[in-house]
Amino acid sequence: MKVMIDEQRVARLLQDMVRIPSVNPGFEGGVPERGMADYVEAFFMRLGLKAERREVRPDRPNVIGILPGVIGDAPALLLEAHMDTVQTANMTIDPFSAEIRGGKLYGRGACDTKASLAAMLAAIEWFAGNGVKPPVPVHLAATVDEEVNYLGVLDVLEAGHAYAAAIVGEPTGLQAVVAHKGVVRCEIETVGVSAHSSKPEEGVNAINGMMKVVAHIEGAMQTRLRSAAHPLVGPPTLAVTQIQGGVAPNTIPERCRIRIDRRTIPGEDSEQVWRDIRAEMAKLATEDGGVNVIVHPPFVLDYAMDTSPDSEIVRLVASAAAEKIGEVRPLGVPYGTDASKLARAGIPSVVFGPGSIEQAHTKDEWVELKQVVLAAEIIAGTMLEFGK
Ligand SMILES: [Zn+2]
Repeated sequence: MKVMIDEQRVARLLQDMVRIPSVNPGFEGGVPERGMADYVEAFFMRLGLKAERREVRPDRPNVIGILPGVIGDAPALLLEAHMDTVQTANMTIDPFSAEIRGGKLYGRGACDTKASLAAMLAAIEWFAGNGVKPPVPVHLAATVDEEVNYLGVLDVLEAGHAYAAAIVGEPTGLQAVVAHKGVVRCEIETVGVSAHSSKPEEGVNAINGMMKVVAHIEGAMQTRLRSAAHPLVGPPTLAVTQIQGGVAPNTIPERCRIRIDRRTIPGEDSEQVWRDIRAEMAKLATEDGGVNVIVHPPFVLDYAMDTSPDSEIVRLVASAAAEKIGEVRPLGVPYGTDASKLARAGIPSVVFGPGSIEQAHTKDEWVELKQVVLAAEIIAGTMLEFGK
């Protein structure tokens, strides 16, 4: 059976959704994802399909739409895409007009990741419209809050459905992404003793202490990471990303704080990585001329993902994609996605979708409509084969 998806139809779906603002409430100008959830729910109702609405936070519901399969009670194939976007500050185009020019659709979320969601909806619509049943049920989870705390995907795991595998929509340029990094972000603080800056010897300068901390991070700690590269995602990384210290130009600073960003690779346990950083800093504190240093608990923690390229879902997505765009080899990427949470729950997951990550979060975000059509056809092709 050949799946043909109409470009006009995909363009319409994507245009509708880009016109519904869903900037994550964690960002400036944010709004809850309710409008998007209403749209997805109505879409399933119109097709005569069931949709479950789960209020993750007030006005921030996930919607799980259900396409029945031939084997009604088999574990389902999950299609997951987040509904939230990043902020619109500094954009050079109208973020919500969804203008189409030269085969590209412009707007916030056009690429990341409403294009993936539109492709998934179009695939579902093809099955429902043609009266075709996939071998196993397919659930489409449109989720909230991927860009900040992953609350949406975590709630999907709470919903109590059994999933055999997942396709997580993100702009991968139609490549099958099987591995990505995790992340640990935390604050490190040095504590000194304040004094009048005319008598610095009476104080302990927290900024000087922080210089030792930063030097240690940029030196020994970073060097050690370089030797541990993963074949698909490369080595772990560590960066100091923010610094703040001191209260006045004439006071020896009592406190200095930095924030660090540590990217983990498959095989590393993100919680353990944080404990190791704490232990490393504790050593610095006991050295000669030691630093009084506190490592605060992570404010962001996510896991790396490493799905086997031999798993059914990866093979099917890769071969369906190869039919459309030529050779597709399983890839690794440095950024995080909802997929790692599903994979950690034992669901083999592949990240796949139209558009380039280079276009995500940009000032003139766009996606090529042809890619969205191809993505819909690849997803539908996978749905036809999965669990057969
Ligand atoms: Zn995304």
